[in-house]
Amino acid sequence: MKKYVVVTGGVLSGVGKGIFSASLARLLKECGVRVNVLKIDPYLNVDAGTMNPNQHGEVFVTDDGYEADLDLGHYERFLGEDMSRKNNITAGQIYSAVVKKEREGGYLGSTVQIVPHVTGEIKKRIESLEGEINVIEIGGTVGDIESEVFLESVRELALEKAADDFLFIHVTYVPYLKASNEFKTKPTQQSVQLLRRSGINPDMIVIRSENPVNGDSLKKVALFGGVPIDMVINLPDVPNVYSVVEILKNYDVHRKVARRLRINLDESNFKWDYPKTFKTYKIALVAKYLGTDDAYKSIIESVFLSGCTKPSIVDAQVLEEMSWEQVCETLSEYDALIIPGGFGKRGIEGKIRAIHFAREYKKPILGICLGMQLMVIEFARNVLGYKNANSTEFDSNTPYPVITLMEEQKKVLQLGGTMRLGSQSMRILKDTKLWQIYGGVEQTSERHRHRYEVNYDEYPELFKMPNESGNKLVISAQSNFIEAIELEEHPYFIGIQYHPELKTKVGNPHPLFKALVDSIRN
Ligand code: GLN
Repeated sequence: MKKYVVVTGGVLSGVGKGIFSASLARLLKECGVRVNVLKIDPYLNVDAGTMNPNQHGEVFVTDDGYEADLDLGHYERFLGEDMSRKNNITAGQIYSAVVKKEREGGYLGSTVQIVPHVTGEIKKRIESLEGEINVIEIGGTVGDIESEVFLESVRELALEKAADDFLFIHVTYVPYLKASNEFKTKPTQQSVQLLRRSGINPDMIVIRSENPVNGDSLKKVALFGGVPIDMVINLPDVPNVYSVVEILKNYDVHRKVARRLRINLDESNFKWDYPKTFKTYKIALVAKYLGTDDAYKSIIESVFLSGCTKPSIVDAQVLEEMSWEQVCETLSEYDALIIPGGFGKRGIEGKIRAIHFAREYKKPILGICLGMQLMVIEFARNVLGYKNANSTEFDSNTPYPVITLMEEQKKVLQLGGTMRLGSQSMRILKDTKLWQIYGGVEQTSERHRHRYEVNYDEYPELFKMPNESGNKLVISAQSNFIEAIELEEHPYFIGIQYHPELKTKVGNPHPLFKALVDSIRN
């Protein structure tokens, strides 16, 4: 038995299809259903790795080294399961597979067309999903030229299968006009019409809104959308997105889906625990991708799921323009700092100043990937006096290249999917804070996404092993590379070459974030 729930979006992108799909999947999972999820991204990039986080949000890296859309992060956190490259398809992957097959003679004699060849490739990928219920989220908004081929594919597939194998849910937005004190359903009505033009009738309409929408407006949506009123669900904004699972349950969405798909649910073991109370510590995320909070989604959610209010973003470039006194004054307001990953030169001097402040004033600080590399640079410059020490990523002529391109990266010519990616194993060294934080685990693996590494061979004098003496950075985890560093005599000064934020799940935040929050004493 394989059933499919297709989630499409209307009116606007970014209204929360990802959260809805993840919450629905978790709700069904809690009712004993084996669920799987698939995000379809209609863009032509083969994966999200080459996109700017300012526009598209963070790149979420899976264990198998796939650079995915951030929705896979929602799926992992909500479902408590690791995703892989099988959980995401992009138009780029589909078209390149079709063109490759054509060159190999795979369609010999045929004119290769969108229908049936491209749709055929999409349907094949969808059919390979192995859940009892497969939740398929189609990215973008109906009416987008890129998504039409995907809508066509699910329409065809639904026709080929039994009537109770498919369910279509359309997630839209109903705006509120303050001037006339009314909710406006016209954009939703029109987006349902667009969906119908692609041959798809929604079975359920989910209305996102800022505030609860009144009953009359919901009736209007039901009427014009051609669905029974009990299949119109209103989801107003909530302060805690993890409550959506519960809200959907209260609306009986799981039973409505199950009835339509003719499957049985077992609700006897339903359990959904998520943090509801939060410490109100102020954590600064010293960052540079300011276009959208989505650029640091997994870090923000990791702090939140550790039971602390969400971090605020501090513009790294603003710190560059301040006097040192202003930097100290600004950052003193915060209880802890996080220096996230990133690429390119912009903002790095501001981040280095934040690290300098945290080191001197013993403010808890977590440096992630680029953040750890900058911790090494800061230490070389300000403790060892290596003037202009840098990473060759930002200054190819630095007199002290303490961070350099990994040897294996020197041969790399293409930029898509070629970094050191995904799960890599490492050894945590005993008698370090890291070792304590991991609960005494010595061998583990974490997810990576980088090209540069600590240049230990040329600058061993910056580092020491645990229990050695001297004012140096303690190496706290190793593989072929230095994976983590820390400082003694500091409440929390930890840098890691990997991305712990990618492993946080609801009810199981990565211990590095939990420990950061715990290190704050007011
Ligand atoms: N730009 C750095 C590198 O490539 C750091 C990458 C990151 O922070 N993800 O190594």
